[in-house]
Amino acid sequence: MAGVQSVVPRYLAGFNCIGGECPDTCCAGWDVTVDKAQFKKLRAAPDAAIERAVREHIKPVPGMPTELHAKIVLRPDKSCPMLDGAKLCSIQKRLGPAWLPRICNDFPRNYFYVGDHPEVFATFACPEAARLGLLAADAFAPAEVALPFPPGKPVPYRCGFKGTQDQHSDPLQRHFGRIRDFFWDTLRIREYSLSQRLLLLGLLARRLGGVAFLDDPSRRQIATQDRAMQTALVEYAGVLVDGSLRQLTPSRSAQEPESQLREALLRQSVLQGLTAVRMSAFTTANHPGFLQCVEQAFNGFGFDSEDAVGSAARFEAAERDWFGPYDRAHPHILENFLLNEIGGSFFPLGKEWHGIEREWMAIMVLYALVRFYLIGLAGFYREQFSGEHYVRLIQSVCRVISHNAGFLKQVHLELGKHGMDNLASIAILIRE
Ligand code: SF4
Repeated sequence: MAGVQSVVPRYLAGFNCIGGECPDTCCAGWDVTVDKAQFKKLRAAPDAAIERAVREHIKPVPGMPTELHAKIVLRPDKSCPMLDGAKLCSIQKRLGPAWLPRICNDFPRNYFYVGDHPEVFATFACPEAARLGLLAADAFAPAEVALPFPPGKPVPYRCGFKGTQDQHSDPLQRHFGRIRDFFWDTLRIREYSLSQRLLLLGLLARRLGGVAFLDDPSRRQIATQDRAMQTALVEYAGVLVDGSLRQLTPSRSAQEPESQLREALLRQSVLQGLTAVRMSAFTTANHPGFLQCVEQAFNGFGFDSEDAVGSAARFEAAERDWFGPYDRAHPHILENFLLNEIGGSFFPLGKEWHGIEREWMAIMVLYALVRFYLIGLAGFYREQFSGEHYVRLIQSVCRVISHNAGFLKQVHLELGKHGMDNLASIAILIRE
């Protein structure tokens, strides 16, 4: 069956689940829901062992809508009871992929709709998707693939919008493609440091958010919004071309030593505070890989709660001596992480529709945490620090943080405590 064609990042075209070889399993610790039609189908499976296992482990949840009709009850160790001794899914093995609950069949792919085009991104919570998507320099080159859905049938997308973009009343929707392309293209312009590119994009997000705030979609208003959007994109493209971005966003090394130290202390205290929030609030959902990465990262710069200045100095040294050299030699890894966050979160519209500035801040906080832990890991592994550590860390962060809406809400509260719930302050967390 030739499926619907879509252009996807190259890493997805080469993705295959590695099953029993996988260092993690997608279902461990997560809610695996089953829609009503699939539930009925599985209850009548032509395989006695599967049918018995389904009756025992997949239970309807009263009061839920049809698409969330039932749930797989995980084992006490949070693993899926449908996995066999070799960590392979017994439904897939005995009956084939058509029998899998949709969530299992799709994972790690998320489908979106932009106008009339289906799009796909994978979550890097899957170790194999993270490896392919992070380590290859050309992971985000476009590749055409056939999606596993027959033409003429709707692709079951997670979010998006249909129809011509120009018809929508929300200016972010009308300019969705242009905005996202601008963010993606800017991320690849390496004549500026990554933090300079991110700061520019933050300023642009704020400006575009102001345009979107004009929410009276009268005809005149629409024309005004469109002009304002286009002007902003043209002006920011000009900042990239004329080099003024360098004056706008000085690097840390251009600062006085005292303000460098102040920033280092603040950065460390905020990111350590966010880690503590994550650790204390969700202990039951913590992931062993994440806990190990965090422990190694804090050991990697000799974190000492009694010695903030010494900890900050050791952190700066780990960044200067171990993380910086490796990261500068492999700039595509963190760029790929950001490209995937933008695509996979449906930026700038996002899952929660908090507005473009908040959506960008959420990505920046995640990036700041990833970079913070990577610097610690580089200090821990020193000469052995490699791309595999990026994969392990980013996979576990995506697993426990990106998919945890509760934590991301708490992030804003924690930042608010430090008076840092704003773009200018987040710039401090990501400055190189
Ligand atoms: S996490 Fe990815 S590679 Fe591992 S079992 Fe799930 S889909 Fe396969």
